[in-house]
Amino acid sequence: MQIKFLGTGDMFSFEQDHNSAMVEYANTRLIIDFPESNSKVLHKLGIPLSDVRDVFITHLHDDHINGLQQLGYYAQVFGNHKPTLYIHEQLVEPLWCTLEPGMKYTVSGEKSLEDYFDIVPLQEGVLFSIGGISYEMTRTQHVPGMISCGLLARGYFYYSGDSVMDRELLLDTHEDVKLILHECHMQDVTINSHTSLSDIEALPESIQEKILLMHYHDGFANREVREQFNNESIAKLVHPLEVIEL
Ligand SMILES: [Zn+2]
Ligand SMILES: [Zn+2]
Repeated sequence: MQIKFLGTGDMFSFEQDHNSAMVEYANTRLIIDFPESNSKVLHKLGIPLSDVRDVFITHLHDDHINGLQQLGYYAQVFGNHKPTLYIHEQLVEPLWCTLEPGMKYTVSGEKSLEDYFDIVPLQEGVLFSIGGISYEMTRTQHVPGMISCGLLARGYFYYSGDSVMDRELLLDTHEDVKLILHECHMQDVTINSHTSLSDIEALPESIQEKILLMHYHDGFANREVREQFNNESIAKLVHPLEVIEL
């Protein structure tokens, strides 16, 4: 399995691309979240948007889904298949509410979400498989009232999505994974919807050693700044497009 981050920036990033990871395994390519910056990065990697098949959506904040309209239209106009969206069953309708104003009306009539994407509504605790890898959607705490999800691939990785620290979940699952891809706002102030560096540093070292930090602010957009941090920290900041082999 190979993982590459298409972007590592938080919602307010101007210098970075927004947070999204690409998981490649046995001729499959799963992209976690689809911000608008993805299409530009995929283009640079020589991957046409029409080659995007599998996308997992963690939650509906704009910096995680605002590339879906372009992805859906591109597949219709230039592709020969619909991208598949894996998404919490209760987020399917809200997702269409965000996309509908720009996607419902077309020259060939009115369209629905299913006209653009193959939708796989996910239930909590029910595994799904892509390319022989078994995935489990986890519920995370991000913003009160909002459904937000992480992704667990036992034997490989846990991906937190946007989330406050769920210490219990990490204590329960860290032995089942080689790598924990965890969001961290990296700000000195407290942000109640995200994980702070002090939350990460309060974990047992054996867990911190498995952590790559993502979704950070532009103060770490510079590679040298990240490397300086990484020299002094157990948990490391992931670099965009760094090749992670699992
Ligand atoms: Zn975000
Ligand atoms: Zn968010």
